[in-house]
Amino acid sequence: MSPDRPISELFASGRPLRSLEFFPPKDEAGVEALRQTAAALRRIAPDFVSVTYGAGGGTRDRTAQVSALLRDEFHFTVMPHLTCAGHSRAELAELADGIHAAGFRNVMALRGDPPKGAEFQPASDGPRHAIELVSLLQERHPEICLGVAGYPEKHPEAPSAEVDLLHLKQKVDAGAAFVTTQLFFDNDCFHRFTDRCRAAGINVPIVPGIMPVLSLKQIQRFTTLCGASLPGTLVRRLEAAGDHADTVEHVGIDWALSQIRDLLARGAPGYHLYILNRARSGLALAAGLVD
Ligand SMILES: Cc1cc2nc3c(=O)[nH]c(=O)nc-3n(C[C@H](O)[C@H](O)[C@H](O)COP(=O)(O)OP(=O)(O)OC[C@H]3O[C@@H](n4cnc5c(N)ncnc54)[C@H](O)[C@@H]3O)c2cc1C
Repeated sequence: MSPDRPISELFASGRPLRSLEFFPPKDEAGVEALRQTAAALRRIAPDFVSVTYGAGGGTRDRTAQVSALLRDEFHFTVMPHLTCAGHSRAELAELADGIHAAGFRNVMALRGDPPKGAEFQPASDGPRHAIELVSLLQERHPEICLGVAGYPEKHPEAPSAEVDLLHLKQKVDAGAAFVTTQLFFDNDCFHRFTDRCRAAGINVPIVPGIMPVLSLKQIQRFTTLCGASLPGTLVRRLEAAGDHADTVEHVGIDWALSQIRDLLARGAPGYHLYILNRARSGLALAAGLVD
């Protein structure tokens, strides 16, 4: 099988790209469910899909398994994620070689999250920041196209938005070809962020990360963890939907649809959907965007 196309080439077409994020399931039953989801989502022809890398333990090997499945069975362009967390440099080099040997030509290079309530601790001889992983991958396999994470509302650990932006610029200067953002619900945050990025000389595509809400509780948990703000209007709509799961999903899709329409109209290079391994919202959003 020939290697994947680097995503940077897809962005170069100037057409807005649609990408979807999967996470590796814990067991084989979950893998089968993911297969069904992927089969349904093939209809909307995502430009690429990404597969997250677990915070540790069990699901890490499944990132490789699921990435291969999505490419080999569904012919998606796949971007496996890789994090520094828990890995020495030698391990990361070996993982990078495996990714390259398997024919993947796109990687999302991340630091990884610390365990809840603790500070991030690198493995002995392991990288402390994503930039070190970007440099390692760039040096070892320069033909791999690298994505990195960006934070429209600042990374929770960063002392200021300015310092965080400086760190993002360092990742891009070290070779990242594009930025995918943390989820956000208020587009003004994204527009201000891209303006600040451009002013700082970050000129690669900045892809907005969109999560269609499935429940108020879930989204309150996510936003508390990642520091994204929840607009009052969205909260009131979700509260009005109460326990009616279908209505909540409808509100979530409607909100995401408005976000995406505005983002594309204002020149975003595409959108990345945090679909949580579910097909419905991805399909509904794609249908809602047809002219
Ligand atoms: C699109 C996307 C995908 C993700 N996928 C995954 C995944 O698959 N698996 C997973 O575990 N997590 C994932 N995450 C979460 C991510 O791992 C966390 O947000 C993590 O806390 C930071 O990762 P980073 O790559 O942005 O780290 P970094 O870029 O290293 O930034 C982390 C913090 O360190 C600061 N910093 C950066 N460089 C320096 C420096 N040189 N000196 C001092 N401070 C510095 C930054 O300002 C920031 O506050 C994802 C996040 C996003 C937005």
